[in-house]
Amino acid sequence: MKKKNVTSKGINKKDYKYFETLLLAERKKVVQNLTNLDTTDLAEENSGPGEDISDYAETGTDAFDIQIALSLASGESQQLQEIDDALERIKNKTYGICEMCKEPIPRKRLEALPHARYCIQCQSEYEKQQDSQY
Ligand SMILES: [Zn+2]
Repeated sequence: MKKKNVTSKGINKKDYKYFETLLLAERKKVVQNLTNLDTTDLAEENSGPGEDISDYAETGTDAFDIQIALSLASGESQQLQEIDDALERIKNKTYGICEMCKEPIPRKRLEALPHARYCIQCQSEYEKQQDSQY
């Protein structure tokens, strides 16, 4: 007998922390690219991403990030927006749910693309609409 396992389909709250970490790491990279700071020592992860990231989450740099998002209309600021939206969904406990069909997004997909807002099916629909934009 197999036990019921929701995680095979979507993710549960326990996974939020994990994906939050992924998102924050990704976000950090994007922010660094955006700000274009020549701070090599900042980019160096001397203390390991774990601690660093939780620190980062505690501090919160929302205002800073919004400024960046506003001042830059690049693909990266778009990506930052996606990541922030995903972090928002974690806060709202709607993370991992497809925004179009409201079905759980498969965990594998989220691991590959932590800020995914649609399931694969809806994403391909979406991309059809966007067509050449990608
Ligand atoms: Zn969907």
